[in-house]
Amino acid sequence: MTVPFLKIEQLAQRFPSPDRGGEPLTVFENVSFGIEKGEFVCIIGHSGCGKSTIMNVLAGLAEPTEGVVVMDGQEVKGPSLERGVVFQNYSLLPWLSALRNVTFAVQARHPDWPKDKVKAHSYRFLELVGLTGGAERRKPSQLSGGMRQRVSIARAFAIEPKLLLLDEPFGALDALTRGSIQDELLRIWRGSGLTVFMITHDVDEALYLADRVLLMTNGPYARVAESVEVGIPRPRSRDQIVEHPNY
Ligand code: ADP
Ligand code: MG
Repeated sequence: MTVPFLKIEQLAQRFPSPDRGGEPLTVFENVSFGIEKGEFVCIIGHSGCGKSTIMNVLAGLAEPTEGVVVMDGQEVKGPSLERGVVFQNYSLLPWLSALRNVTFAVQARHPDWPKDKVKAHSYRFLELVGLTGGAERRKPSQLSGGMRQRVSIARAFAIEPKLLLLDEPFGALDALTRGSIQDELLRIWRGSGLTVFMITHDVDEALYLADRVLLMTNGPYARVAESVEVGIPRPRSRDQIVEHPNY
């Protein structure tokens, strides 16, 4: 048995809950799964089942009550630039231009790089998401939702993480923009060898993007219940997905 690139073992998360007479709220427990290097995995589940809580643990932004996360042989403890994160609300720095939002992260990742190298590298990733020609000089408030999300994706890719974590990244976008950014994400991911873990509540989106879909259920406690191989080679058309027997 080979050890997967990302290994989640017996994860549980409980929060103090004053309104339950001191009894803690268990968001999930006994959650174990693995993700192979280069795999694109989506996790789906109802709102409130604990998806963001899991992602925060994988990102090292929250400590689990029980269990461990091991990435590339090392236990995840605290945030690291080896993991890129894209949030639903973009989390861009509002006082910096799109370009500076990216260079800021790249400089943190490579403190020894000269400024012009950082800038050229960042620009290349903004180009990949189609955000150049002047748009890169605008601040987040001067960009549309879709453009902001592109900056956020460019930033996450530009630090060249080992693992990319996306928490419902396209939820706030209109259907047309969502479709084009999904395709962009697939295009950049394809050649990259990057391992992607993405949360969504949209089954269609999960089947369109992922190699494998994990389902988080709402039992007495949420847990990862099923893993579905999508099994249709890319590029997939949306028609194929609707006809797929697993769906
Ligand atoms: P999802 O992302 O699947 O919609 P979340 O992971 O955000 O769900 O939340 C799962 C549950 O955990 C919710 O009931 C939420 O209220 C609770 N929760 C999340 N974070 C905290 C926290 N820091 N303290 C207490 N409860 C929390
Ligand atoms: Mg969430």
